[in-house]
Amino acid sequence: MIGISFTQASMAARKRIALVAHDHCKSFLLDWAERQKDKLAEHALLATGTTGQLLHQRLGLPVESMISGPLGGDQQLGARIAEQRVDMLVFFWDPFEPQPHDPDIKALLRVAAVWNIPVACNECSADYLLSSPLMEQAHSYRIPDYPAYLSGRR
Ligand code: PGA
Repeated sequence: MIGISFTQASMAARKRIALVAHDHCKSFLLDWAERQKDKLAEHALLATGTTGQLLHQRLGLPVESMISGPLGGDQQLGARIAEQRVDMLVFFWDPFEPQPHDPDIKALLRVAAVWNIPVACNECSADYLLSSPLMEQAHSYRIPDYPAYLSGRR
């Protein structure tokens, strides 16, 4: 990435996991989350509005809910990622249907790539993510060096 320098950041052992599912994928996410409930319970969960409500009902775990995705929830999660307040994203996006908020979805995925957080887009990748030994330990990773970025623009 030209013009961007990087620095190291540390992810705590207790991760802040953002969860999102499009309507046709919600049952997959809920079934997956139920199967992974014990592991998810060790971390802090946040979600877009409807996904968060359904997850809370199904799991009985606390979930910090944003506004619903089509009304801006994806953008709220994206802002949290840019503020380094989200450590990973589990986003079951619908590969078969365009969404009214496609630009917001693209923006969320982009900012997750910018800030180098792990992203899972389906059950299989989410299983791989949660079974990583890094889920239970602090982890050093590379992020954009914002002070260096700012000073380079003067
Ligand atoms: P929802 O939003 O959880 O409020 O349905 C998800 C999305 O479509 O981004």
